[in-house]
Amino acid sequence: AKDGGGNRYELADPDSDARAIDRHSLTTRLPGALERDEFFLEYQPLIRMSDGRVDGAEALVRWHHPVHGRLGPDRFIPLAEHTGLIVPLGRWVLEQAVRQACTWEKQLAAIGKVRDPAQPLRVNVNLSPRQLHHPDLVSDTVAVLETAGVEPSTLCLEVTESALIGADEDELKPLRQLAEMGVEIALDDFGTGYSNLANLRRLPATTLKLDRSFTQGLQKHPADPVDVTFVGGIVSLAHALGLRVTVEGVETEAQAHQLRELGCDTAQGWYYARPAPPEEIGCWTK
Ligand code: C2E
Ligand code: CA
Ligand code: CA
Ligand code: CA
Repeated sequence: AKDGGGNRYELADPDSDARAIDRHSLTTRLPGALERDEFFLEYQPLIRMSDGRVDGAEALVRWHHPVHGRLGPDRFIPLAEHTGLIVPLGRWVLEQAVRQACTWEKQLAAIGKVRDPAQPLRVNVNLSPRQLHHPDLVSDTVAVLETAGVEPSTLCLEVTESALIGADEDELKPLRQLAEMGVEIALDDFGTGYSNLANLRRLPATTLKLDRSFTQGLQKHPADPVDVTFVGGIVSLAHALGLRVTVEGVETEAQAHQLRELGCDTAQGWYYARPAPPEEIGCWTK
């Protein structure tokens, strides 16, 4: 069948027939997309709230589809996860992102801005459940870090809480091994799953990424007191467990201010910067 043209993807069309066609055209193109070099990464800075400095950046994958143009990850990651393509795609993302971190490090060194080795410029990479449970996760990650010649702490792997729900000690072992090597582990979209505080203690995480939905409640002026209490409570708990807190989806100055007051460590969102191609991220030098 032929792929449909046009910009149907821009429409929030609930029509299931249209979606079935879309899905078909994505399904047929997806398997070869990696070989055809159709994926690319954008990066969104993570800002240290204490001094406004850039702490690192999250790599976010996009697909340049030959017919439909640029597609966001929500359109194809679930499909890639379903078909298993996520494993080679995820490895490609990891490789690219770590290589990019290395490039940034060299660029900073070239202008005399050497970072404290204890706080390298970090790249955050999202891991799908399928990657998480893949037997080569540890060896692949080690190989990528060694090839690029960067410290393990240059990398932060983001895993969703829901991917870890119910994981037993054996299933957590690869992540624990990586954490012991110095790779940072962030619990992504924290607060959206069936958060289990007892569970939190036994996960090898170094950072909590508080989901955007919590940040949204702080947008109002004055902020919703329940949201303030809630976020403040999570921050205290996280700090008590030795975890850093990153907040995502910060869109306004008021939110940024409130979240800093509440003790959040790092922030990410349109208020600071939108995801952008690596060469467009000029704020590293600040
Ligand atoms: P995520 O990990 O929660 O990533 C954050 C998403 O929030 C990104 O959407 C980002 O563009 C968006 N965002 C950032 N700041 C703001 C803001 O201030 N306001 C709002 N409304 N949104 C903001 P994006 O790039 O569309 O990615 C969507 C999801 O796709 C990601 O959610 C992540 O779960 C997944 N994803 C992206 N790249 C990868 C990847 O390489 N591998 C895997 N497995 N998943 C990926
Ligand atoms: Ca993420
Ligand atoms: Ca997230
Ligand atoms: Ca999300």
